Order: sequence, then structure tokens, then C-alpha cells
Amino acid sequence: MFAGNPLDRANHRRRDAAWIAAQLVSETSRFLPFWRLNVLVKAEKPELAWATAAIRSVQDARTGAVLLGVRDEVAHFAVDITPLHDPVTELGLAGSASFVELRAAAATLSASDSGIAAQGRQMLDWHARHRFCAVCGRATSVKEAGYLRECDECDAQHFPRTDPVVIMLVESGDRCLLGRQAGWPPQMYSALAGFVEAGESLEDAVRREVQEESGIAVGAVRYFASQPWPFPSSLMIGCMARAESSDVTVDKSELEDARWFTRADILKSLAQPGAGGVFVPPAVAIAHHLIRAWAES
Ligand SMILES: [Zn+2]
Repeated sequence: MFAGNPLDRANHRRRDAAWIAAQLVSETSRFLPFWRLNVLVKAEKPELAWATAAIRSVQDARTGAVLLGVRDEVAHFAVDITPLHDPVTELGLAGSASFVELRAAAATLSASDSGIAAQGRQMLDWHARHRFCAVCGRATSVKEAGYLRECDECDAQHFPRTDPVVIMLVESGDRCLLGRQAGWPPQMYSALAGFVEAGESLEDAVRREVQEESGIAVGAVRYFASQPWPFPSSLMIGCMARAESSDVTVDKSELEDARWFTRADILKSLAQPGAGGVFVPPAVAIAHHLIRAWAES
């Protein structure tokens, strides 16, 4: 989920002002509307609901249309129509489409639609929260089809951010370490995770987070896969981590519990959620795939 974006991001065209201007008024271009970061989804089936260039008349002019990419020679944009108070009524969409929170929508969207929506949500959220220069505080202007904000006063350039998060399955022979936060559904456990800090390698971030949250020492770290997580701007970097100690000491400020589960318990839970005394996250989350890959290896 969120990782199957099929668009050609057309990076080389973002600085081509004439090409961008032509696509913005083209009858074939597609515009994906977001309202308060919720994405427009068709009512009759779980697909993104694309609009024509006419939607730009109600977009947030401070952001403008953000180029998502190109597919079959058709330009695709994201537009923020949050300035509308009641967009479904104002745009006459009742019964045909509605604005859906992306985590909820992702459960039913195709992988490719979820990937496109993830890119749009992350870009529009960044624009909404970075209207002013972090250097001098003056207003910034959008450049390069939405991939740059440049300060009107000091010319400082500001780029969309992506925040790396390591998420790791700690393994030791036939056991894996999972943790849970207070407030999660009962018996729900998942892989440990945490933000990568400045000047830190992924391997060091994995070792530090596991040590802090569980007291377990980690040796070898192996990359598994990654997943965009646009709430608001994370990139989940999945790793397998080999434990070098076994006594768990839970950091109660971060986790309610962390403990070892046997491969048999995890396989039972994957076959029938809740069996084996544990629920693991659903398949929309990379944690699910980390846990499954280990259990079935
Ligand atoms: Zn500035």
C-alpha cells in the first residue's frame, strides 16, 4: 500500500514552464482534488475521482496545482480545494464521489491509486505548512510545478521533506520481538519503529531504537523493503535485525509491552488473527510484511 505509484514523475519537465502551463489548461490533463487532505474517491467503486482543469478555479491559489507525473502522455496533478466549505455540495458531487481520509481509503483503493494519493497528500500537506521562509519568515512562492518553494525576500530554497523511519523485526532463532503501545487494540503487537536522527545511519538507528525501547542489543541489520507513509511525510524503512541479547526491559514511556513471540505463535496469528494470543498489523502496513516474511522464512 502507498508503494505502487505508476506515474512517471517527469522530474525533467518540472522546470519547463511552457510545458507546465500547457498541461494546466489541457482538456486531457487530470486533477486529483484533496479537501483538508482527504482525497476524492468515486462512490460506485473504490477508485480515485479525477477532475478536469476547471477544478483549478476553486484551488488554494497559494499552492496551485502540483504535478504528480505523466502516464500515457497525460499530465496528472494534485489540487488543494480546502478553501471550499462544503465541496461535495458546491461541486455537485453528492452521490457520485466523496472525500475520504487516506488511511481509510487505502484499504480499498488499488495499490497504484493508493500510491498516487500518497504522493498528492504528502505534497499538499507540505505546501500547507511551509508557506513562509524558514530563514527570514517572509512569504515563499511555488516553483518547479510544486517541488520547490523559493523565498520572495532572501531567495532561500525550500524542498518537500521526507522523514525516514526505521521499522525493524528483531529476530533470535525461532523467536521475534514485538511491542505494543497503550491505546492499541487488545493483543495487537507490531515491529518496533522510530525516526532516524540527524547524522545517523539506518543501521545505527535500528540498534539505538531497539536498545531504547526494549533493552535488546542488536548486531546484524539487513534491509528488507520500504513504504511511503504520508501521515504526514514518513518513509518507513523495513529491516530485519539480529538480536544479540534476550532480556527485555520495556521503556514504558514509549511502549506498554514488548516481548518475544515464537514462530509458531506468529504463524497461527497470520492464519487466524488473534490465534496464538496476538494480532499483528494488517497487510496495508509494512510491519505485516516484515513479520510474515520472517515467519515464513
Ligand atoms: Zn527568506
